[in-house]
Amino acid sequence: MAQAVEQSKKAAGSVIIIAERCKGCGFCVEFCPPEILELSSEYNAKGYHPPVLTVRDLCTGCNICGMVCPDFAIYGYITKKKTKET
Ligand code: SF4
Ligand code: SF4
Repeated sequence: MAQAVEQSKKAAGSVIIIAERCKGCGFCVEFCPPEILELSSEYNAKGYHPPVLTVRDLCTGCNICGMVCPDFAIYGYITKKKTKET
């Protein structure tokens, strides 16, 4: 019988934020699973607050932020797969 190996795989990711496209609706902030986006105190050229990534290490690159953004102003992407064997 093969030895059971417990694996926890967690993707690491990041986001590209195109601040000038953002209308500050906050959907990305609301739907990010690890809750690591918040609206900046800075304004873009349209007068909206674009999101910023608060805890870069917790981003999985799931791109849920990108899927809910109505203005194509944010994209999540996977940078690497983390594999941990115990
Ligand atoms: S890619 Fe996923 S984890 Fe990263 S900021 Fe977007 S919704 Fe959050
Ligand atoms: S969902 Fe898009 S438009 Fe709305 S705050 Fe986030 S980046 Fe800006």
